[in-house]
Order: sequence, then structure tokens, then C-alpha cells
Amino acid sequence: MQSDIDRILIPQDKIAARVRELARQITADHTPPNIPDGGEITIVQILTGAFIFCGDLIRHIPLPIQIGLLTVSSYPGASVRTQGSQLLGEQLGDLRGRHVLLIDDILDSGGTLKLVVPVLKEKGAASVRVCVLLRKDRDTARDVMADYVGFDIPDEFVVGYGLDYNDYYRNLPDIVTLSPEAVKRRATSNAADTAPAAAIAQAAAAAGGAA
Ligand code: 5GP
Ligand code: MG
Repeated sequence: MQSDIDRILIPQDKIAARVRELARQITADHTPPNIPDGGEITIVQILTGAFIFCGDLIRHIPLPIQIGLLTVSSYPGASVRTQGSQLLGEQLGDLRGRHVLLIDDILDSGGTLKLVVPVLKEKGAASVRVCVLLRKDRDTARDVMADYVGFDIPDEFVVGYGLDYNDYYRNLPDIVTLSPEAVKRRATSNAADTAPAAAIAQAAAAAGGAA
């Protein structure tokens, strides 16, 4: 998998340090009296991409929090550009009167947040703040309000630390770009999963032997 990497954009130690900074800032902003009504927060993460970021972040927030989940698809399968955001599922609990902190992995076109924030407000959230680990250098991304941003990055397709390509690479500890060979190979690898082993070996050989 290491040989599929083109470039390490953000190494794991930098991610860890920034996550701790974000958590400190979020904790300060949500500690009474800074949070209105002495309220508690519900942290809603957008699956699947935010799961590692959210898991690391909340362990540095020593406040009483509840967790909600939302499943949104915008880069289905082997897509490297958004196909439009779709709400696929939710497990939110009762949001009435609660201060919600929405966590996503990356702000790109902004379509996901534009879809999800109104849903949380309709469910009675007292306030909705947004935290993203990454924000792409695109006008549409900057037009969408994010209260907490981990890193601003160039407009490139990235994977790792929860972010996927065709559901692969979420377990890479760094945030990276992929080699063109890896993109080509992983685009079809779901089909190869059910194909004979020879076909898989052939695909790996064609891509230079990496797996
Ligand atoms: P938006 O709705 O802002 O266009 O995109 C947000 C979602 O698209 C993210 O939550 C993420 O799932 C996906 N996405 C956007 N850019 C990238 C990227 O560079 N890499 C990966 N793996 N997913 C991305
Ligand atoms: Mg996502």
C-alpha cells in the first residue's frame, strides 16, 4: 500500500498536533459560560470519512458529549469528484435544544454541509457549528462557513486518515495523494475481488507489483 502513495501531504504527527489544538479550542468554546444556556453538545460525525478524525478529536474533549451519526455519500465508488451529496442514513438521537458540532473530513464543493446543516436545524438543534479536518483551496469551499478548520490544502484528491478511494486507504495514518497507477488499479479492484486470483495478480503486475 505504501508504494501506492504519490506524496505525503500531511504526516501523522502534524495531524495529531493539529487535532489536539482543535480539541482545545472546541473545549474552550463549549465550556460554560461560553456555551449558551449552559448547554451540552452533541457531536455529529459524517460517515464514513470523518470516523478516525472524530475518534481522535473527541478523546481530547473532556466535556459531557453525546454522539450522533450521519451517512452521506458524495464520492461513491471510484469517484475523484463529487457526484452530488445524498443523505443515506442517520442515528442522531433527540437534537431538540442541543448545541451540535458537526464533524466532516473535508470541505470540497460544500454540497455535503449545505445538505446536512439544515437537516440538523430542522430536528431542533439550538445551534450548529461545523468542524472539518481539511478544506480545499476552492471558492465553493471557502463560501461555506466552517467554524473550525484543521488544514487548508490544495485542490487535489487525497486519501488516508479516514478518507478513501473506492473504500481503500482509510487506514493510512498520513494524508496523501495517490499515484496514477494506484488510482487506475483501485478503480477496478472491486470487480477483481470476485475475479479469479490470476486476474488480480495480473492487475498487480501491470501496476508494478504494488498491493
Ligand atoms: P463536498 O460535499 O464538500 O463536495 O465534499 C465533501 C465530501 O466529499 C467529503 O466528506 C468526502 O467524503 C468527499 N471528498 C471531497 N474531497 C475529497 C478528497 O480529496 N478525497 C476523498 N477521499 N474524499 C473527498
Ligand atoms: Mg464524507
